[in-house]
Amino acid sequence: MNFVPFEMGPIRPVDEADSLLIRTTRGCPWNRCTFCTLYEDMQFSIRSVTEIKKDILAAKEYFNGHPFETCFLQDGDSFVMGTKALIEILETLRKAFPSLKRISSYGRAQTMVKKTPSAMKEIFDAGLNKLYCGMESGSAQVLEKVKKGITPESIIKSARMAREAGMDATQFIILGLGGKQLSNTHAIETAKVLNEINPDHIRVLTIGVKPGSGLDRQMAKGEFILPSEAQIISEQRLLLEHLEGITSHYANHHSIDLLLEVRGRLPGDKDRLLTILDRFLSLSDTDQINFVLGRRLGYYRYLSDMENGLQYQFVEKQVQKIRQTDPDSFEQIFHNLRCQVV
Ligand code: SF4
Repeated sequence: MNFVPFEMGPIRPVDEADSLLIRTTRGCPWNRCTFCTLYEDMQFSIRSVTEIKKDILAAKEYFNGHPFETCFLQDGDSFVMGTKALIEILETLRKAFPSLKRISSYGRAQTMVKKTPSAMKEIFDAGLNKLYCGMESGSAQVLEKVKKGITPESIIKSARMAREAGMDATQFIILGLGGKQLSNTHAIETAKVLNEINPDHIRVLTIGVKPGSGLDRQMAKGEFILPSEAQIISEQRLLLEHLEGITSHYANHHSIDLLLEVRGRLPGDKDRLLTILDRFLSLSDTDQINFVLGRRLGYYRYLSDMENGLQYQFVEKQVQKIRQTDPDSFEQIFHNLRCQVV
């Protein structure tokens, strides 16, 4: 194993696969969301400017002139750093890696609203031009239930501040987060908030309840009922249907998402995306099960892959095996397979 002479955190967004990773904080300053176990065993701390600057110089030496164009600041929320400290880090980074075009970070709404608009602008001017924000839902009820620690108001305010400063923002939504009980509210209220902020990118992720998480315990007590795969697609349909007057790029982009072909620019692609969701929803129960199992096992990537008769028959054999042993276990199996890809 290669020894990397600077500290790295455990997580980065999917879109930052080729980025330089520099750690500004360890863990998450909130760490209470019931669905999240990312940093559960990690004590949160803000790294000192001296330590981070040392890492930047070590990375410069280690990568020996590699022309990185993107850098992601780990871990959970760089905005907890003082503005001056963050700017000093950004300036050091850009000096050490002059080819950088994009520097990004996770940003929690509740932390960002503590910055002034002029501080946000100074941070943008120093180089932080891309944000990843896990709003997860726009419903106050859902956000409270999952202990997200943010409100629809703080999401809207922080997103507007970031936009006014010039930052490009991605908002993450978790499909299924309201459970069966709050599915409609989750979809409609989330669409309302997204319509208010018009983020540059909307990325949906399908829920996978992690064993041992707070949500897992809520599920065991019957306080959270996991929606089926088809119900999650119906929820997504409702969300998409209610997105109005925005120009965001909308995408299912993680392998945990069932319909990866649902991606496009709003509003022009909206009808096309709805048609894909409807296509899945109009399949017979047998074909829905065949598709979901084939997709979750990696035999299909897109809905159209079902048209390959040989592949369909192969998946159907697996379906039949499950039908013969435990015909009521499909949703549980699908969920277990989803959890394996998180
Ligand atoms: S979802 Fe984000 S804010 Fe919530 S505990 Fe996990 S890292 Fe922290």
